[in-house]
Amino acid sequence: MNLTPKSKNVSKWYNEVILKAELADYSPVKGCMVIRPDGYSIWENVQRIFDAEIKKAGVRNAYFPIFIPMSFLEKEKEHAKGFSPELAVVTKGGGEDLAEPLAVRPTSETIMYHQFSKWIQSYRDLPMKINQWNNVVRWEKRTYLFMRTTEFLWQEAHTAHATHKEAVEEAERALKSYIDLYKNHFAIYGIAGIKSKSEKFAGAEKTYTYEVLLPGGKALQAGTTHDLGQNFSKPFEVNFTDKNGKLDYVWQTSWGLSTRSIGGLILTHGDDNGLVIPPDLAYLQIVIVPVLSKSKEDTELISKSWEIKANLEKIYRVGLDERQEHTYGWKLNELELKGIPVRIELGKKEIEEQSATVYRRDLGTKEKVKFNNLEKYIEILLKDIQDGLFEKSREFTKANTHRVGAYDQFKEIMRTSRGFIEAFWCESEDCEMKIKEETKATTRCLPLDAKTEKGKCIYCGKESSRRWVFAQAY
Ligand SMILES: [Zn+2]
Repeated sequence: MNLTPKSKNVSKWYNEVILKAELADYSPVKGCMVIRPDGYSIWENVQRIFDAEIKKAGVRNAYFPIFIPMSFLEKEKEHAKGFSPELAVVTKGGGEDLAEPLAVRPTSETIMYHQFSKWIQSYRDLPMKINQWNNVVRWEKRTYLFMRTTEFLWQEAHTAHATHKEAVEEAERALKSYIDLYKNHFAIYGIAGIKSKSEKFAGAEKTYTYEVLLPGGKALQAGTTHDLGQNFSKPFEVNFTDKNGKLDYVWQTSWGLSTRSIGGLILTHGDDNGLVIPPDLAYLQIVIVPVLSKSKEDTELISKSWEIKANLEKIYRVGLDERQEHTYGWKLNELELKGIPVRIELGKKEIEEQSATVYRRDLGTKEKVKFNNLEKYIEILLKDIQDGLFEKSREFTKANTHRVGAYDQFKEIMRTSRGFIEAFWCESEDCEMKIKEETKATTRCLPLDAKTEKGKCIYCGKESSRRWVFAQAY
């Protein structure tokens, strides 16, 4: 299928593999993309897993309008400033000029908090925790499928609490749920930490993040949670009467995870032959391919295939490729490209031996497994693939994380292999900006487990006490 090897050119491979494996396609609208069924099914698996987590935490789903009055966005100064360059604005509706322009939501803080102010009166109405699975628009001039598109899908949760302590706990709990999602289901290792003042969400007190290192040495901000303090509740007058009858503003959080995560998934696990999808998120975890010969033996092969499918289907997502119009080799290539975690090959010889040939996509290895042992074998195999992919991602990140003490070395790494750099920083925005200008690297986060040490700022040499993580970002 003429796929550019990932090892040769990551970004070329990335675009090609998405198109050839039919995850997504370019759209006639510049900056936008079409998510095809094979790509959307990955998102559906993410939704299914994460939606259950959200609900366990007492968050409920709702839906708010896509159009936001411009005056709402302008109520929180930092927020308006942060989002104005990428806003899409509607000025006409039904053939008439609108009295007030409407922004197409870049995020929903403002419109949701307008409603919160109507719904929250007393401490009895708190906490309020609401999530939306929706689309948002942030104008982009260049498209990078999944990673950077004008419109993307995400979940955005917004919570309101009676105390700051409770809001911080919620932001930290949500961060933990993202870490678990990435580790256990995406099989992607990352670093959890806190954003610098200039990198935090526009309008937040504090932004927590999970930063992932991708092949090519650039970082992806994989999920963020924000402690909004009272920065929105004051302009939006979301206030409540506390237990003592005193009026106070609520303390808020917001947190989101988008379809960019699928871009991270593709880049992290794929190889020269195509996609490698972790079993938990794969549309099909197993595909059975009988070796058909257009003879009467096919009947027995097909009926055995259906029997295996019926057994495995009780637990797994299983496909069966009995199409006659494609050759056996063509089918194997397609499954390889699409990154199906496990395939079961079944020919005349297998029937004689009462066993199946089981192939695992991540390592490219095969094993003969007796029919009566197949279910047990698959159970262990899928877990092994899932764990193995995470371990590989962890090793890649560790191998490409550099602890650096000299700025020359910092510059050299960013010019060549890139990766995560751990370095002391005095926490002045001036040094942060200069480093960005000179190396394109930004502060990704202060790791949650960062120790207080004695050191010197990598840029200005001033006394510094903590090592930050730097990287170029997607
Ligand atoms: Zn400095």
